[in-house]
Amino acid sequence: AKSAGKNRFRVFDEEMDRHMIRKMELEKDLRKALVHGEFFAVYQPKCDAASNRTVGMEALLRWNHPTLGVISPLEFIPIAEDTGMIIPITHWLLKEVCRQNRLWQDRQWMQVCISVNMSVRMFESQSLYDMVEEALTLAGLEGHYLELEITESIAMHDTEDTVEQLRRLRLLGVRVSLDDFGTGYSSLGSLDEMPVDTLKIDQAFVRKSQISSKQAIISNIIAIAKNLNMEVVAEGVETEEQIRFLQSRGCHVMQGYYYGKPMTADEIGTRYHKAPAG
Ligand code: C2E
Ligand code: CA
Ligand code: CA
Ligand code: CA
Repeated sequence: AKSAGKNRFRVFDEEMDRHMIRKMELEKDLRKALVHGEFFAVYQPKCDAASNRTVGMEALLRWNHPTLGVISPLEFIPIAEDTGMIIPITHWLLKEVCRQNRLWQDRQWMQVCISVNMSVRMFESQSLYDMVEEALTLAGLEGHYLELEITESIAMHDTEDTVEQLRRLRLLGVRVSLDDFGTGYSSLGSLDEMPVDTLKIDQAFVRKSQISSKQAIISNIIAIAKNLNMEVVAEGVETEEQIRFLQSRGCHVMQGYYYGKPMTADEIGTRYHKAPAG
């Protein structure tokens, strides 16, 4: 039994080592990934449940590593945040998303607002406004076609300064969405003073929306959004039951696998391009 216990620790140590080695490797490779063009965006539709029309999209980052394949943002975003690489990467993504949106609009495939996720580092850098303005100008895109998704922790971090940056960004027409709403610790008492257009109901609630206590939370998030004149989007929607429930409580914009997984720009083209008649 003693030696088995010792063995268990050795396995644990080896796992830790593997984990550390992979992390260090990713950290080293991340620095080259941007210049090597290894990042790409995938797009997930936000749909109106009544009409089934796509009313928006969220851009999500992917890293196509030369030997390890496509890596999840859940793994590389924290590393990018620690190393500061998140700033040039997000700068690139903002330009890429605006360029892509302009292209889709020019081809008349769709005319929707596309959102980009923001790390708290973007607000600390004090360069977000310039990056957003540059991305819009380069693409020739109006500000209301771009949305920034921020989490409650960003909203609560150095509140005064963050609010000021968001106010300036909204003067460009850019929209602001509060992501994963209900999972953080933001004070409801100041939500009315936040420059926010949309609340996104976290997928953890949607996943458990058959449970009555979760239904109560969802209903209240929707009510808060309505009362503050904000829009509300449910994320992680996978089933018809979830859609029926959300609609019954007044949430009509849905994002989730039921409507579509995140797709590459090419896949979006295939799905949304309607060949001219005849
Ligand atoms: P998030 O912003 O909450 O994005 C939603 C995540 O849920 C995405 O995972 C999406 O693919 C996934 N998802 C969407 N619908 C469903 C569904 O119906 N069921 C399930 N099970 N999952 C669904 P993804 O793409 O792996 O991204 C994970 C997280 O990584 C994001 O969570 C976001 O926090 C972060 N992230 C992604 N791209 C970026 C980025 O460009 N910048 C920053 N700072 N963070 C990003
Ligand atoms: Ca998001
Ligand atoms: Ca989310
Ligand atoms: Ca999340």
